[in-house]
Amino acid sequence: MAFLRPQSREELLNAIHEHPGYIMVAGATDVWPKIRRGAIKDADFIDLTAMPRLEPYCDAQGALHLPGSITAGRIAAGGDKMCKKWPLLVEGARHVGSPQIRNRATIAGNICTASPCADMTTGLTPYNPEVKLSSLAGSRQLPLREFLTGPGRTARAADEWLEEVILPLPPEGVFSKFCKTGRRNALIIAVASMALNILIKKGKIEHIALAFGSVAPTVLRAQKVEEFLLGKELSAAIIEEAAAIAYNEVKPINDQRATAEYRRQVCRDFLAAALEEAAQ
Ligand SMILES: Cc1cc2nc3c(=O)[nH]c(=O)nc-3n(C[C@H](O)[C@H](O)[C@H](O)COP(=O)(O)OP(=O)(O)OC[C@H]3O[C@@H](n4cnc5c(N)ncnc54)[C@H](O)[C@@H]3O)c2cc1C
Repeated sequence: MAFLRPQSREELLNAIHEHPGYIMVAGATDVWPKIRRGAIKDADFIDLTAMPRLEPYCDAQGALHLPGSITAGRIAAGGDKMCKKWPLLVEGARHVGSPQIRNRATIAGNICTASPCADMTTGLTPYNPEVKLSSLAGSRQLPLREFLTGPGRTARAADEWLEEVILPLPPEGVFSKFCKTGRRNALIIAVASMALNILIKKGKIEHIALAFGSVAPTVLRAQKVEEFLLGKELSAAIIEEAAAIAYNEVKPINDQRATAEYRRQVCRDFLAAALEEAAQ
């Protein structure tokens, strides 16, 4: 087994260029369980933990640039003032595993695992984020919804490193809600989750961005619900109709954690409760 430990961006990009088949390891909270259960065998690795620690920053347009190496623990602690403008990101990070897991789990690892139940990915989705992918050939930015192509699948080329996640500034005054349910109260993988941003001005919905986790092959952006609600006034009847659209728009499966029907009902109820709260 080969194990490379690049100490700089240049060393890393050279390493993945020369060894595109090696598996990058950040917090190892997804990679290590896969090794333990034999899903990863006879592999070679590039360890990202000796790389210089990069800091989040906001650019001139107010967009937040998060280094891929930032951990769920750091985001969840809420110490970075800039994270307060993106509360769904903070909530998503708070819902990842346990304190021990959060202290290792990186945002890049959460995204690149491409699990439909990845909590940070669910929290990010309503912000229309982009990922910055870098290789020796240069960097490119891709919307997250194009990056995630299926369960466990992404548009990352073998020699690309997820360097940054970029979140545009959400509209001022937006109401945000993150909900997650699982089979117990701690250390849970989501049975269903929801991240909602909604802005109501003069009684009408001016902006809405809605994501559901664990109910489709990738984290789902609920476009039918969004299209239905945009420009409308929130009344009991509209909330009921929107929740019914969500029930039909999600595409869950039955698995050992829950039935598809239960997941649909949870999404419907999460949305109805959040819209009622937003309307108050
Ligand atoms: C007990 C336990 C509980 C958990 N609970 C939750 C939970 O509640 N919610 C949740 O969302 N997740 C949970 N997870 C999963 C996991 O912690 C997260 O997905 C985490 O964010 C993965 O990050 P990592 O840095 O550990 O990734 P790693 O395991 O290091 O890597 C994961 C994948 O991402 C790739 N990768 C990592 N960094 C980069 C990069 N910069 N560029 C390109 N590819 C990269 C790796 O090659 C690998 O394929 C849990 C895991 C465990 C073990």
